Amino acid sequence: MSEPVTKVLLSEDEMPTQWYNVIPDLPSPPPPALHPGTLQPAGPDDFAPLFPMALIMQEVSQDRYVDIPGGVIDVYRLWRPSPLFRARRLEQLLDTPARIYYKYEGVSPSGSHKTNTSVPQAYYNHQEGITKLTTETGAGQWGTALAFATAQYGMECEVWQVAASYRSKPYRRTMMQVWGATVHPSPSEVTEYGRSLLAQNPDHPGSLGIAISEAVAMAVADPNTRYALGSVLNHVLMHQTIIGEEALLQLGKLGEVPDVLVGCTGGGSNFGGLAFPFLREKLAGTMNPTIRCVEPAACPSLTKGEYRYDFGDTAGMTPLMKMHTLGHDFIPDPIHAGGLRYHGMSPLVSHIYELGLCEAIAIPQRECFAAALQFARTQGIVPAPEPTHAIAAAVREALACKESGEEKVILTALCGHGHLDLAAYEAYLSGTMVDLDLSEEAVADAMSRVPVIAG
Ligand SMILES: *Cc1c(COP(=O)(O)O)cnc(C)c1O
Repeated sequence: MSEPVTKVLLSEDEMPTQWYNVIPDLPSPPPPALHPGTLQPAGPDDFAPLFPMALIMQEVSQDRYVDIPGGVIDVYRLWRPSPLFRARRLEQLLDTPARIYYKYEGVSPSGSHKTNTSVPQAYYNHQEGITKLTTETGAGQWGTALAFATAQYGMECEVWQVAASYRSKPYRRTMMQVWGATVHPSPSEVTEYGRSLLAQNPDHPGSLGIAISEAVAMAVADPNTRYALGSVLNHVLMHQTIIGEEALLQLGKLGEVPDVLVGCTGGGSNFGGLAFPFLREKLAGTMNPTIRCVEPAACPSLTKGEYRYDFGDTAGMTPLMKMHTLGHDFIPDPIHAGGLRYHGMSPLVSHIYELGLCEAIAIPQRECFAAALQFARTQGIVPAPEPTHAIAAAVREALACKESGEEKVILTALCGHGHLDLAAYEAYLSGTMVDLDLSEEAVADAMSRVPVIAG
């Protein structure tokens, strides 16, 4: 008998050439975004100051597949197809009969899955003559991904980095600057909203919602500038489906079918990217995996938030989206998984959760880092703080299999490495990391300011 496989690689020719849009396959469509003034469904014109028309059309597309442009494939080939690993050494450590597979997106230039969407977003803007993109970044992964992508098409990039992260993660900022981006701490002196917040608190730690407000304000003020969002929206999740499409091919080569799929959810993009092609197969009846979202206990929008219309940003400038939310001005505690500190959830993932097509659990950060150490010490890769949540969920599942004796196939996305997040590991190793409980009062307070909308 041959040795069990350690990794499955695809050749460049085997790379999928289409993204998958799950919406036409769902039993009902997700509720539309609403214009915040009229409360009518937002139309393409409402988004035109923010996004290029090609992406707006993808946002509302009913096509099941969208061709990946050649100009995007050329850049994807710098790191795609990405490897699928079997975590054999972790399985041995856990003494589990389960087989654990992880799709590794840390091989991208910026070290996370975010380049799967930053590249097409920059590409479509460039095609429409846009010369500059603005965005926010929390942990810094999205900002670096967009800085890399804009550099590929000779565009400018201006990033608002959440102040707490700007101060604690100088290397992420430097990386953005290496690729030619301009970086501001948020709140910043550059926008009126930022100035108003700094006037109240000069040491304001910032939040993703605030940084989005600042980046949006700058984009709408300049006709040659648009805004780019790294998660949450339908077109972002669609770009990420290349992860799941590749994983399907890779597991297929082994004759494996997943029983359980787990992914960490901040805005839902790496989860959706991995899960949606498998959800297509589940809806078609060719496999029946349990699909599970994993969120931080300190920012649990799916498991503790309400499903209702809310703003995507703190200042209330974006269209209203129906999603699981903790309230648009809820400021999550500063957990180490900065990319999971978002008050809302992708409307598409929220809808799929409401339909009962996926489950969700929340895990506190110390359990996540304990699992990450087991993973790093066996598999070698030091995970980003966000996917430690997915790893912890995979470990829970593998240990349940040890109890029951079931030989389940577990699949997850290791959506980024943690080489620029070592301070989080230091906090864990030195014993200073604490589990931050969600403040029910803070959520109730923020929810009291969510607009009340029928439907
Ligand atoms: C941004 C990010 C996340 C959270 O965003 P999702 O849209 O939920 O994927 C998770 N992990 C990594 C490595 C990230 O960069």
